[in-house]
Amino acid sequence: MKKSIQLKVKSNYAKNIKAGYPLIMEEAVINLKDVNIEGTIIELFDDNHHFLGKGYYGKQNKGRGWVLSQNQQETFDIHFFEKKLKLAIEHRSSLYQDSKTTAFRVFNGEGDGVGGLTLDYYEGYYVISWYSEGIYQFKNEVISALTNIVNVKGLYEKKRFASQGTYMEDDDFILGEKAPEPLLVKENDMNFAVYLNDGAMVGIFLDQRDVRKKIRDSYSNGKNVLNTFSYTGAFSVAAALGGAVKTTSVDLANRSKSKTIEQFSVNAIDFEAQDIIVEDVFHYFKYAVRKNLTFDLVILDPPSFARSKKHTFSAGKDYPDLLVQAISITEKNGVIVASSNCSTFGMTKFKGFIEKAFKQTGGSYAILEEFNLPNDFKTIDEYKEGDYLKVVFIEKKS
Ligand code: SAH
Repeated sequence: MKKSIQLKVKSNYAKNIKAGYPLIMEEAVINLKDVNIEGTIIELFDDNHHFLGKGYYGKQNKGRGWVLSQNQQETFDIHFFEKKLKLAIEHRSSLYQDSKTTAFRVFNGEGDGVGGLTLDYYEGYYVISWYSEGIYQFKNEVISALTNIVNVKGLYEKKRFASQGTYMEDDDFILGEKAPEPLLVKENDMNFAVYLNDGAMVGIFLDQRDVRKKIRDSYSNGKNVLNTFSYTGAFSVAAALGGAVKTTSVDLANRSKSKTIEQFSVNAIDFEAQDIIVEDVFHYFKYAVRKNLTFDLVILDPPSFARSKKHTFSAGKDYPDLLVQAISITEKNGVIVASSNCSTFGMTKFKGFIEKAFKQTGGSYAILEEFNLPNDFKTIDEYKEGDYLKVVFIEKKS
């Protein structure tokens, strides 16, 4: 049995927690200093000693843990995790049965009732991500629960927390059979090569599945496409399969080139007919303007924060500028796909960025479509920040 500690929640935070807000904020707790061991079970009480919820202590950004239950008798044992996992798997049953899609999220943290823990499925293999040392203390329970209820071909883990200030990146393989490298997965019949044992990122961001499908099915045919911050070129693959005349992928990371060639190749697309450029996107925009290059479809999917040699990009501050540059090289009646996974602002503010950018360029626009997280990235109303993804398809009218 893990030790449990009682914590007192400030009155202005108690109401939220009672209403189901799952994140335990650092500033919400009066006697946080009473707990310092990651993984400690904590019971939360209000000023009047009323029980609010029960969870674990774990440092994750500004959070200090997650509420997992509002039942004071709950124990966080194998049975508890089996219950949560079963519900989560049921929620994805149509994806499990879909032969066209073999990679998706199975368990999405607080959206599925356990903050700090995610589980992804790749063609029979599973990848667990631990977002704090606290949740990592439940490793045995979680793994036993998982292997008790589903057939796990092979299991990997990503420790997304720093231990003594260093990022932990050792062998991620836990049990079963090792996956081939690369492992080929499918998404709406597109192929993607993933590497389950190659650092924090496996080669594809599963939360963009619906957007990739939309780009392929409705926005690419006959188009000249620019994909910025392209990583392994997944959006370029979707565009090429959708009939794009040409795709141009731009990413700063050296390895993005071979990775993008590989993604094209596993889809039988001639990569030599595509441009794959290793360069700072902000340099590329200048180059494109100088050379009078324009595009019918421009995809913007920057990280929330990035520092390159000459540039620091922070989505919350610099997205309008990024849009201004994109607008300048987008054809009239062309489309910009603006995406952000930055959790510090929501859709309303993001649309404000779009408005600001078009005001600055003096052009007009129309919003054609909007996307949030797909269904397998389950979120709850009580924790709106959990729905971090914002994708807007914008037509440049003039
Ligand atoms: N759009 C991608 C994911 C982007 S991840 C996809 O759908 O798969 C963010 C990428 O931005 C990383 O590959 C990183 O190398 C790249 N990046 C960060 N700053 C950059 C910059 N200034 N110029 C070009 N690429 C950059």
